[in-house]
Amino acid sequence: MQIDYKKIGLMVGLEIHRQLDTKHKLFCDCPTEAREEGREIIFTRWLREAQSELGEVDPAAIFEAKKRKKIVYHGDDKSICLVEMDEEPPHDLNREAVEIALTISLLLNSKPVDEIHVMRKIVIDGSNTTGFQRTCIVALGGWIEVGGKKIPIQTICLEEDAAKILEQKRGEVHYDLRRLGIPLIEVSTSPAIESPREAYEVAYAIGRLLRATGRVKRGIGTIRQDLNVSIREGALVEIKGVQELELIPKVVELEVVRQLHLLKIKEELIRRGVIEEEIRVQPIVDVTDIFLNTNSKILKKKLNEGCRVLALKLPKFGGLVGLEAAPGIRLGAEFAGRARAWTEVEGIFHTDELPGYGITIEEVSRLYEKLNASSNDAVIIIADEESRAIEALEYVRERAIEALRGVPSETRAARPDGTTVYMRPRPGAARMYPETDLPPYPVDLEYLERLRKNLPPTLDEVAKKLAEKYNLSTQIINELIDMERVELFERIVNEMKVQPTVVASILTEHLKSLKRDGVKIEELRDEHFIEFFRLVSEGVIAKEAAYDVLKWFSENPSKSILEAIEALKLKPVNISEIEEKISQLIQLNREVVSKNPAKAVSIIMGELMKEYRGKIDGAKLYQMISSKVYGQKS
Ligand SMILES: [Zn+2]
Repeated sequence: MQIDYKKIGLMVGLEIHRQLDTKHKLFCDCPTEAREEGREIIFTRWLREAQSELGEVDPAAIFEAKKRKKIVYHGDDKSICLVEMDEEPPHDLNREAVEIALTISLLLNSKPVDEIHVMRKIVIDGSNTTGFQRTCIVALGGWIEVGGKKIPIQTICLEEDAAKILEQKRGEVHYDLRRLGIPLIEVSTSPAIESPREAYEVAYAIGRLLRATGRVKRGIGTIRQDLNVSIREGALVEIKGVQELELIPKVVELEVVRQLHLLKIKEELIRRGVIEEEIRVQPIVDVTDIFLNTNSKILKKKLNEGCRVLALKLPKFGGLVGLEAAPGIRLGAEFAGRARAWTEVEGIFHTDELPGYGITIEEVSRLYEKLNASSNDAVIIIADEESRAIEALEYVRERAIEALRGVPSETRAARPDGTTVYMRPRPGAARMYPETDLPPYPVDLEYLERLRKNLPPTLDEVAKKLAEKYNLSTQIINELIDMERVELFERIVNEMKVQPTVVASILTEHLKSLKRDGVKIEELRDEHFIEFFRLVSEGVIAKEAAYDVLKWFSENPSKSILEAIEALKLKPVNISEIEEKISQLIQLNREVVSKNPAKAVSIIMGELMKEYRGKIDGAKLYQMISSKVYGQKS
């Protein structure tokens, strides 16, 4: 679909989060990366009350508190201490983290504050043991230039990372505390971005600037991008947790498609004369008897568990619930998302998708009959414990009423395919209050001046320098920078004396073609490359084996290079055996050798490569053959 983003008034703001590569966590001395796992720690808590210390109630907090979840925390005594467990007050703000945050602020032309005040932001999904996340504004304002346009920066904050969710089931959630407290930088832009492509470019530019400090963590899980997306007639929607940069344009585009779709539905509902009151008065009806002998697997399962099937008619919604603007984008998904997020119901259907899923046409017509509905209407059915199903249908009712108004302003979570799902209401202003356990942290001017004088070079400058040093193009160096493999590249070249062009091409071209072939290159760690290049430099294996070895490592990330050699039958080559074979081939091709030695070399090379491809370096083999052929001739 071709969308005129200017015309619909698209506005996007970004919040870029990135872990800082400090030695210690933000409020305690635990390492941000433990070298070993210590003694296991497991404990259980229950969700806290939703009220802030100012006495106001936050909508996002009510959402979580309603669920009354049991929370199980996991950690080990080498990675967490009493601070993460909320048994001890926070220690002083980590100086190293403040320094990195201030450096980033200066690079973004932002104005550091005089005093850093730590605040508490209510987060009670259990991802923080305290019931809040500590965050502090480090600098205000600023800008970054992208494609000739100045994108304003609003704030730069330093935050503690939350615990990582391990497992979630009904009434219970498990978190890993090892990530809790790792310093995060949060850069927020103003909503000045006007197209999906520009959102990508700004995120890329900010990412490069953060990496220029050389003091941010890299790899999966260290970066998170949140997007604030709105269109003129729509609403401001927060989209959380986009992990991959490449996904940003798609998420923005699909959010625009979703909002346009909801606006179209609103128009159609108004045209059909639907009014709020009509939706409000619909009763919730028990329709369990219709499905007693159903073939629907999920309904059968729920009925066996003693659940009921309840139904709600949405008058004149027929055809609109299942109407799809793009895969996964339809009103039915909005209903299900809302009901699931609040009540964790499982079996939910609407008549636009029925008959189907094992539900027969007879069952559907009995359903219509019982609810006094026709195909002009939509009926939503939910199978669950009675009280839970009633509650879930009330959320569907609320969402249906919101459909009359257009796009609800809410917080959604990004999925790996670029679509989003309802997460919770947007948090209110009552969400922040001061951290009373910590004094303000003064930022003195002399210190700032020192930082300003020692700002790191930009990555463009770094790329230029490296290109000269290793005699490579800046393009290939930039690729290494973007793939975050520059350090690895330099380490291999300097420690193992492998040709820079060889290392660079394996770390860029080879990896790209592996990725194209569906290999999970994100499984590859630095050690895999280091082990491989070490054996290449020792002449044990040929660089030509890179593709196979790296592919194998991606499938067996915890194995060693020796196991790779074994599995791939990359037995170290026996040089004297090859020399023997060259002599035999020279004998066989005596005539060509004497008449046209160059041709003889290429014949013998072709013959031997059949056997030794990937096992010996091609250039080395060529050299061995040449010296023997020409030696023979003279
Ligand atoms: Zn700790």
